[in-house]
Amino acid sequence: MIFALVGNQNSGKTTLFNQLTGSNQRVGNFPGVTVEQKMGEIKTNKNCTVVDLPGIYSLRPFSSEEIDTRDFILNEKPDVIINIIDATNIERNLYLTLQLLEMEIPMVLALNMMDEVRNNGGTIDVKKMSEKLGIPVVPISAAKNEGVDELVKTSIYAAKGCHRANKKSIYAAKGCHRANKNKHLYNKKKIYPKIIDFCDSGPVHRCIHAVSHMIEDYAENAGVSARFAATMLIEGDESIIKRLKIDENELITTEHCIIVMEAEHMMDRNSALADMRYTFIEKVCAETVTKIPESKEHIRSVRIDRVFTNKYLAIPLFIGIMLAVFWLTFGVIGTFLSDMLAMAISELTVFVESGLEAYGINRVVHSLIIDGIFAGVGSVLSFLPIIVTLFFFLSILEDTGYMARVAFVMDKLLRKIGLSGRSFVPMLIGFGCTVPAIMATRTLPSERDRKRTILLTPFMSCSAKIPIYAVFTAAFFTEYQALVMISLYVTGIIFGILTAVIINKTGSKGKPVPFVMELPNYRLPSFKSVVLLMWERARDFLQRAFTVIFVATIVIWFLQSFDPKLNVVTDPADSLLAIIGKTLSPLFVPLGFGDWRVSTSLIAGISAKEAVISTLSVLTATSVDKLSATLGSLFTPLSAISFLVFTLLYTTCIAAVTAMKRELKSAAKALLIVIMQCVIAYVASLVIYQTGSAIF
Ligand code: GDP
Ligand code: MG
Repeated sequence: MIFALVGNQNSGKTTLFNQLTGSNQRVGNFPGVTVEQKMGEIKTNKNCTVVDLPGIYSLRPFSSEEIDTRDFILNEKPDVIINIIDATNIERNLYLTLQLLEMEIPMVLALNMMDEVRNNGGTIDVKKMSEKLGIPVVPISAAKNEGVDELVKTSIYAAKGCHRANKKSIYAAKGCHRANKNKHLYNKKKIYPKIIDFCDSGPVHRCIHAVSHMIEDYAENAGVSARFAATMLIEGDESIIKRLKIDENELITTEHCIIVMEAEHMMDRNSALADMRYTFIEKVCAETVTKIPESKEHIRSVRIDRVFTNKYLAIPLFIGIMLAVFWLTFGVIGTFLSDMLAMAISELTVFVESGLEAYGINRVVHSLIIDGIFAGVGSVLSFLPIIVTLFFFLSILEDTGYMARVAFVMDKLLRKIGLSGRSFVPMLIGFGCTVPAIMATRTLPSERDRKRTILLTPFMSCSAKIPIYAVFTAAFFTEYQALVMISLYVTGIIFGILTAVIINKTGSKGKPVPFVMELPNYRLPSFKSVVLLMWERARDFLQRAFTVIFVATIVIWFLQSFDPKLNVVTDPADSLLAIIGKTLSPLFVPLGFGDWRVSTSLIAGISAKEAVISTLSVLTATSVDKLSATLGSLFTPLSAISFLVFTLLYTTCIAAVTAMKRELKSAAKALLIVIMQCVIAYVASLVIYQTGSAIF
């Protein structure tokens, strides 16, 4: 039995999913956290599978995640839809509910956040709402695990009733209310009195009925409800025309019905349907919801927002907060923890090394373990604390609801370069890792904004580059470490902006879709979700350290330890690796880093950015804590800057390129982005190094 969780963004779907399945999916006080559907077994009932779908506001989708969610419902035919709505914001949430009702799939309404409604002194007449909507309504609080068991029971009941009915009837949807008529389970409980008409008479009513009658057979063949198909047709949805394989004649008749309706109703088709739904929602709410005018949380949020989204204060505050986060991460906490871990790793290395020596192990194996694995993986591992600390702060900012404000404030600025405030979300995630950032572009409502955002996210310096920055700034800019680090981030952003401006001037025209992201109320960050995010990042990082980077260091150790005839080399300059590196290194001479070891590390960096440092450490046969000293012989401060800018801008790692390919549905486009980035990186470093050398 399959339950589909459907609802607006931020309505608590993932929280409920976690409660139901006992899993730990990420929850965020931020629209667009869930971009992929997740499945899980229900803890209390192993026969039931629940699917957490990305949030949607309507079944007339704009963004690709909305399309995914709708197609899931239409194609996978879940046994029951659990429509979860934010009870503190019923009117807006019910819009989707009405559209779902038209699909005539068994459905249960979960009124979430009832704890907040209660705290604010509001009440909702659940029974009456259930009568009005014709479906079971269950009040719950996903966060407090209240009403969840009741919800499961009701859902199973709803699904079963329909399932049995299905045997009698060929079409799932219709069977459902035929069953109701036939004194089925529901009737006994009076859960489903009848299918609800949102308006009883008038032009819209006539139009919907006329169209649904006409297309009934098409709908039956396509396995969707006629009612749903009719409203989609009236709203002019292209995909439904394809799905129904509808005849030209019927389309003309439909168009005729709509024109008559528009004339009689004096409203265009979309407004007419929206008006019908909102009028119905208003009526339902008037009879069932007693609300305290403004919730406490809301009043508090508005007060806080007076400061944080203030016209003049918003951006300086944001910059200030980000600087503080960076300073704490790179200057104080993260660095301290990293140093501790690096010390522990080097102690362990010494310990293992003496053990191996005492055992008298083969020299090549000894070299593999100590120079290859320990130097390579160990070097990368010591940066784990910095990444975790950074994400600790970022997840607090996100969980409180502040990040949503930032996106809102940034909307105006981003609009100037042809993007929308929503593009800010993926870009921000890009500072962590480009892969989820590119996936997060699915929340963007327009293909145009989406492509542009995918193109720009790689300019946001990902956390895998932190080890590179940390080592180099420690070697060359000890006093200004945080400053150089921030400058690099800013440089990436500036290049992103420049690219956006250029595309905006030259690329396809069209305006970004208006900003519709909702500002959630400020909430205290939940300890669990902060820890979860930190763990997720740490896990990603560890996984990479022990897979990609592990393999990369072994490959590099191998290439470095043997010559073309597979003899162990005595002079590193004779190794296989040196030969490859030397072939490429002339390319980098004009940029100031022509040493073969450097060009080799850049190649290794394509597998994962951390591998740049692990490779340098393997190639120079120094552990990472001493690497800073060794770098002095390979770089001058100027060429170090040139190198840092190059690593900042040149191609993303393989994983991100694959993600781009998937999201753009084109290998050629992904490759083009890679080439573009490499060219930009090369030119930028060239300019820096050449002007720098000319001046100093
Ligand atoms: P999704 O976008 O629909 O998956 O929503 P999430 O599950 O990510 O939740 C959005 C926010 O609402 C998070 O900050 C949750 O902690 C919060 N939340 C979820 N359920 C409840 C609830 O029952 N009561 C309260 N007060 N907050 C909740
Ligand atoms: Mg979610």
